Amino acid sequence: MIVGDRKPFAEIKESVQGCKKLLIAGCGTCVSVCMAGGEKEVELLATELRMANKLKGSDVEIGEVTIQRQCDREYIEPIVDMARGYDEVLSMACGAGVQLMADMFEPLPVIPALNTRFIGIAEEEGIWAERCRACGQCVLGRYAGICPIARCPKSILNGPCGGSQGGRCETDPNRDCAWALIYDRLSKMGLLDNICVVAEPKDFRAQDFPARQINEDYVKAEMEEVHATEK
Ligand code: SF4
Ligand code: SF4
Repeated sequence: MIVGDRKPFAEIKESVQGCKKLLIAGCGTCVSVCMAGGEKEVELLATELRMANKLKGSDVEIGEVTIQRQCDREYIEPIVDMARGYDEVLSMACGAGVQLMADMFEPLPVIPALNTRFIGIAEEEGIWAERCRACGQCVLGRYAGICPIARCPKSILNGPCGGSQGGRCETDPNRDCAWALIYDRLSKMGLLDNICVVAEPKDFRAQDFPARQINEDYVKAEMEEVHATEK
């Protein structure tokens, strides 16, 4: 999932200063799971802003809405008309969600209330950890399901570096060395030969910005349907 965290309240307050009718929009998927931008967080932020406005004596109308996904047109469409009744939208989604909302609500300003951090997993309750940097050339199969790009701070492909000590990373003694983890798991799997092969440098052209992915079968089927309806 995409992990984000809420911006400091002072920054959020500043970003919506002067707005008289504000819609706070949550996202019910990734950022809801990491407790940054779901329904509860929308409610909390709305309450904080209402209190801050009351203390300042400013009269601001604040609406609240949470949709299933802000990165999917299908879920945004039903709230477009409603959103147009506001002066600004404060989105509690990841950066992708904020951008699609901004495209669909144009020219309404859509302001981010979160900082998007990484693609990760829930390690334990309340703790999320980065697991993937979307490099476009996945090597997990070779390294026992442990990503050296995301889990080693130096993203070393032929590790470990000289700083690995007792299974810990030299950048932080509380952090496992990704390469120690890879070694241990490959060893249990009887696949240590995998790290005897020198990994070639990654082809960074695979990590294209901006990246796009097209499912040819799906697009073709959609086009055929359109042509059939036109006949
Ligand atoms: S190798 Fe690349 S795609 Fe695979 S988990 Fe790591 S960063 Fe993500
Ligand atoms: S100690 Fe391990 S995880 Fe840390 S930078 Fe070196 S190889 Fe990467």
